[in-house]
Amino acid sequence: MNKFKNLLKSYSIGDYLSWVAYILAAIGIIIWLFSLRKPTQEHVQTPLDDISHGTISVLIGDEPVEMDVLDYLTGVLAVEMSPTFSEEALKAQAVAAYTYAKYKIINTPSQHKGNTDICNNPGHCQGCITELSYYATKSDSVAEQASAKANWEYLKSCAREVLGYQILYDGQVINAMYHDSSPYYTVSFESVFGYDVPYLQAVSSPSLAGFEPRRQLYVFTREELSQASSANFNGDSITVTTDSASGRVSSLSIGETTMTGVDFRNKTGIRSTCFSISCQSEKIYIYTLGWGHGVGLCQQGAEVMAQQGSTWQEILTHYYTGVTIEKES
Ligand SMILES: [Zn+2]
Repeated sequence: MNKFKNLLKSYSIGDYLSWVAYILAAIGIIIWLFSLRKPTQEHVQTPLDDISHGTISVLIGDEPVEMDVLDYLTGVLAVEMSPTFSEEALKAQAVAAYTYAKYKIINTPSQHKGNTDICNNPGHCQGCITELSYYATKSDSVAEQASAKANWEYLKSCAREVLGYQILYDGQVINAMYHDSSPYYTVSFESVFGYDVPYLQAVSSPSLAGFEPRRQLYVFTREELSQASSANFNGDSITVTTDSASGRVSSLSIGETTMTGVDFRNKTGIRSTCFSISCQSEKIYIYTLGWGHGVGLCQQGAEVMAQQGSTWQEILTHYYTGVTIEKES
């Protein structure tokens, strides 16, 4: 103990202050080294699903739902396409769906209950389903729920990769219409709706070979067809004029009544204006090929293009004439 006291006495005040300075410096260095190991805010990885991509208010049935845009596009892909499609076709569809929604919001606002941006009625806007509702459409089996989860994540990953991309014509967001299938050619907007939209022209659509050919047979009695088509059909013949390139019916005459193929499709509810008619006794048989109005992106054609190696950008610039694809700033 005396030795320790003598040792203390051997140091001056200046020596003590030096030791304190050394110790403080050492503590400072240790703190600095630890600060180097701690990641800064910029280096912290945020889980992708935690990133907000903006929201869109969607009328799901009768229920307004505020959805993250990525979830919305995933829900559109689940309804308007399916997980059986290739990645590039799904990305093309996601960009078309985003552009279509944006066009609706800009050009036809305030059309929906609760002032929502868009609805999930495919006949009015575009189909969409929430993630939980998607799982609810499957059985409760563990395997099917796991498969549904994997499918949802696949669709979501495709939508995520093209998030924020939009299709423009002359600097403006386009009305990115799309449909299920056109057997040979799509049709122009003008041929269906009566006025020209420069980026919605008729273009070739790849063969449906290898796919469900989208054939459908309809059988009407003469009376049913008269009622459906608003024509007086009393045993008269039906004359059909078909465009040789597209295979679509341009006009059709039933007795004294003449109408366009588009009118006939709208009135009878058949899938396509690409059809043939056969009259046998009291029955009229209508065979349709393809599905939808035929304007803009053809989903089945997009899949064929994707399988043949086209990118989502090539698919979109094929079906929408003269457009550019840009990412929002
Ligand atoms: Zn709507």
